[in-house]
Formats: sequence, C-alpha cells, structure tokens
Amino acid sequence: MPSSQILIILIAILLIGVLILLIILNKKSKNIDALYKKNKILERSSEYSKDGLLVITQAKEIITFNDVAKQLFFLYNQELGKAVILKMSDGKMESINTLIKANKERLEHFKSFSVEATLLKKRTEIPVRILFEAYSVSKKSSEYDTIIIISDISQELMVTKHRHRDLLTNLPNQSQAMLDIGVFMNKMNTTNKKFGLVLLEIDHFSDIRAILGHISTDLLIGKIVESLKYFAREIDSSVYQMTRNNFLLLIPEITTEIEVKDIIKIIRNDLSNLLDNEVTNIDLTFSTGVSFFPLSGNGIDMLIDNTYKALAKAEEKGNGHIVIDYEMSLDKDKNHELKLFTQMNDALENNQFELYYQPYIDMNSGAIEGAEALIRWKHPDRGLISPIEFIPLAEKTGFIIELGKFVVEEAVKQQKKWELFDFHKLPIAINLSLREIESGDMVDFVAKLLNKYQINPALLNFEITENIGMVNAEVAKKEFIALKKLGVSLALDDFGTGYASFSYLRDFPLDILKIDLAFISNIIENEEHQKIVKAMVNLGHNFDLKVIAKGIEDKETHDLIQSYKCDMAQGYYFSKPLPVFEFQELIRKEL
Ligand code: C2E
Ligand code: MG
Repeated sequence: MPSSQILIILIAILLIGVLILLIILNKKSKNIDALYKKNKILERSSEYSKDGLLVITQAKEIITFNDVAKQLFFLYNQELGKAVILKMSDGKMESINTLIKANKERLEHFKSFSVEATLLKKRTEIPVRILFEAYSVSKKSSEYDTIIIISDISQELMVTKHRHRDLLTNLPNQSQAMLDIGVFMNKMNTTNKKFGLVLLEIDHFSDIRAILGHISTDLLIGKIVESLKYFAREIDSSVYQMTRNNFLLLIPEITTEIEVKDIIKIIRNDLSNLLDNEVTNIDLTFSTGVSFFPLSGNGIDMLIDNTYKALAKAEEKGNGHIVIDYEMSLDKDKNHELKLFTQMNDALENNQFELYYQPYIDMNSGAIEGAEALIRWKHPDRGLISPIEFIPLAEKTGFIIELGKFVVEEAVKQQKKWELFDFHKLPIAINLSLREIESGDMVDFVAKLLNKYQINPALLNFEITENIGMVNAEVAKKEFIALKKLGVSLALDDFGTGYASFSYLRDFPLDILKIDLAFISNIIENEEHQKIVKAMVNLGHNFDLKVIAKGIEDKETHDLIQSYKCDMAQGYYFSKPLPVFEFQELIRKEL
C-alpha cells in the first residue's frame, strides 16, 4: 500500500475520531444544559410546590409542566393557550401567548414580569397571579426559555377582602373607605369636582344595645345597612361601616349644603322607622357630620378628621343634629360676607336702603319725645335685611362712612320735610359708630348739611354706637366736642354692654344715656339686672344725663323701670320701628 494511501486513511481515522469526540462533547454539553434546566425547574418547582409550573421555549413549545399547571391549563395535548383565557383587570381577554408577546421586551430586559388576572375555565373563574421568568438556554446564546408560575390567589384575596370589610355586615370598612377616598381625591383633582362625606352615628347606641340585647342589635344594624345600601345605590354613592354604629356615605359630585342636607333628611327619615319605638320607647336618631372635598381638607386624614369633628359637634348638640364641617362653614361665611359687601355697594346706588323710625317716649307723661332712625336694607331677593347683619360688616370694611353719610342726610332731609309740612317737631336720633366719627369728615359733613337744609340742630341727636371696639378715644373725643358745638345732642348707646365704657361718660360731651336692651328684656325675672338698671339710671342722673331704657316690651317692665325714675323708654310696647309714612300716622294719632 502506498504511503500516500496510508496517510489518507490515518487522516480519515483522525477526522472520524475528532467527529466522534465532538459528538460526545456536544452531547455532554446538552446533557449539562438539560441538567441545569432540570435543576432550575426543580428548584423553582419546590419553591412553588402548590403552584402550577411550566416551561416553554421561544417557539412556544412546552418543555415540561407539573400537575397543578396541567389541571389549571388543561395541558393534555401539550398545546398551550387554546383552552386558557385570562381576564385582565381592565376587562381585556388575553392568552398566555399574547401576554408573553406583549411583554417580550420586559422579559428580555428585566428577565421577569408578573400579572394578576382571572383564569376563565369552563364554568369557573380562578383569580391567579402569573410570574414569567426568562432564563438562557445556554451561556453563549441569547436564546431563552420561559418558566411560567401560576398561583391561585383566591385565598389571598379573601383575606384582603376581609381586611377591608366589616365581619358582621360585609360592608366595606374604614380601611376600604380610606383607599376609596384617596382614589376619589385623585379623580376629582383632575376634574375639579367636589364630593361629600356624610358620617352617620346612631344616637344612644349603648342604651339601644342594652335594651335590645346583642342579637336584636345585630339585626337592627343589618337593617340599617340594607337601607343605607339601597340609598347608596339610588344616589350612586358608596357606603362604609366605620365602626359598629357609625356609617360613612361617600357622595360624588355634590356641590351645595342644601343638596346634602336633603339627602340626609331622606335617609334618616327612613332609618328612624326601623326601630319599633312603641316597644323600645327609644327614637332611633342619627347624629351626622358632613364634610366636603376639597373645602374641608384635601388630604385623606384631614378630610376624615374634619368629618369626625363635625360629627362630634353634632353629638354635642343632642339627638339627630347635622353639622357641616366648620372649615366649610367658615369659607361659606367668607363667601357670604364678600357677596354681601359687593351687594351693599350696589344697594346704596340702587336706593335699597331706607330709614325706619321708632319712637321713644317720656316715661312720666307718655308723650313721644323723639324717634330713632334705624336703617333697613330692602334687598331685591332676600327682602328686609336687619342692620344687625350688615352694619358690623360695613364697620369692618369702612363702608359705614359712606352709609353713615347717607343716613344722616336722609334724617336731615326728613326733618326738613316735617318742617315744611309743619309736622310735629321731633328730634331724630341717628346711630353713629365710632368708626364714622374717627376716620371720616363727619363733623364737616353734618355742618354742611345743617347749612344746606337750614334745620334746627337741636332736632338731631347722635347715638354713639360701637360694634368693633374702641378706635382712637382721643380723636373721637375731639370730634364729638366739635359735633356738639354744632348744636346737636349726643347719646351714649348700648350702655352696660359691648364696648361702651365708663370712660365715655367722662370724656364725651353727652346728653343722654341709653341702657342696653340686654338688661331690660328679662328684668322682671332677673334681680341682678334690676339692681344694675337701677344703678345705671342713678349713674346717668349723677352725670346730668337723661336716661333712656330700650327694649321695653310690656307694661310690667315699663312700670318697674318707671319706678327707677328712668326718664324715657323705647320698645315694642310702644311701637316697633316703622316706615316713615306709618310712623307719621302713629304720631298723628298719638299727639
Ligand atoms: P340700637 O341702636 O340699639 O337700636 C335699637 C334696636 O333695638 C333696633 O334694632 C330696634 O328694632 C330694637 N328694638 C327696639 N325696641 C325693641 C324691643 O322692645 N324688643 C326688641 N327685641 N328689640 C327692640 P335694629 O333696628 O335691628 O338695629 C340694630 C342696631 O343696628 C342698632 O341698635 C344700631 O346699633 C345699628 N344701626 C341701625 N341703624 C343704624 C345706622 O343708621 N347707623 C349705624 N351706625 N348703626 C345703625
Ligand atoms: Mg341706637
């Protein structure tokens, strides 16, 4: 055999040997990979012994699966995804394959992802959590298989559900309420809408429980819950059981107090009939605290806290009260004031202010001695508004200066008319707040009016009233002295209450002292007030002042005060404040 042939045979044998070696090595490596895979799967499998586990290739070929996965996924024919449909939380239906496809990047990049869904099998629905994990087929290639671990989470959900539900009534409880309120807040923040929280608590719950016993009490609570659930459905709201006798309604898109109060009234009316009060002798009433998002607070805790604060206030008031969270009411007051203030300015231009006149009489002769001019606001929507409502606001805002000038001019014009018509000469008392005298040019203004209308200054009496506390006593003193020099008289109003103090008696050039009606209205039954009024009459006389008692509503009070030698009296006993024509009629009859 030629040596070249031997060489070829040797090379061939060598090549075959290398090939065999390669085949052996490759097989070994495949075995190592398979072992690695198997171990990995076994490892995962023991980790998730109660869960379904299967492994699929990128070509969606099933490599292996355990019994649980087989049952869950109907893996009889090694085909995945046909019999299994997953309902996702957004309601979409997916298969395992579409899920893997949709999450391919996450899987490749992060090596795992998980979803929660409901597994729809023939007639059953199983809530599941599915974990997808990618692992490389070999160290060198980018190829990977996917381990899928399916966990049945029905038990877990039951536990969570119970954590968020009341055990007796199965209503969502406080922790669920907090979660839902948070969700609502986010929703409303983006839409700029408001929602209301209504917290109802059974009044005298422990008494009811003691009378009914715990079984009947549970039944009663059950009935309350059914009623509340019915209403909640009707008004598209949610209801929660915060504690055993405490229920929260979350009412979406509510805007006004009236709306919410109407809802509460309907609900409580219905609930109150649930207890047979002829048997128990107890009325079933509910104290109610209300808050609004975002006015009552735009954080969950603050909102809930303020609802509870409102409830506590409602309970303080007694059975069956409704209290709207104070923050909201403050805001409402601010809005109300702002509205009133804007309207007040317009009202002056639109002639909506009018003076009423209330006579005061001489206590000895019974003759009418004069009349107090009292302002009224004829509001186009609200009707007559009392000065008690708008004068303090006018003082606070400074509008009183403008308004005060209107009052003085009206009163002066009235005097002129009476003079021209030869009507009885009666002094008109005009209320003047310290604010007006201190900051304005009132003295000048009065002087000009007296000059313009040429009326007798003695027919004007200025009553010094003060609602907001002493302004600047020194300035006021100077102004009053100047005012007095014009020939008008001065009275100190509301003596004994508020801010009118003894120093005014000393500092201001007064003629009259008016005793506040707070001392007069209940004087018959209040011995303290009898002593005080008696002393005030004496004090006035000691300062050489005439004393008027205001607020006399009956003969008994009149007689008692007359016995103290009080000079004059004003009150409903003689006449209420009247519009000028009616007042003139009264004078015509009386004088
Ligand atoms: P005031 O100066 O003490 O006026 C007397 C108030 O007592 C009046 O209330 C009058 O209607 C009421 N009154 C009189 N007799 C009785 C009675 O027998 N029983 C009861 N319950 N009330 C009686 P009104 O008219 O609501 O005025 C309230 C206050 O508003 C006045 O109190 C005065 O401080 C202020 N006010 C009224 N008009 C003016 C004004 O033109 N300028 C200023 N600065 N204040 C005014
Ligand atoms: Mg007065």
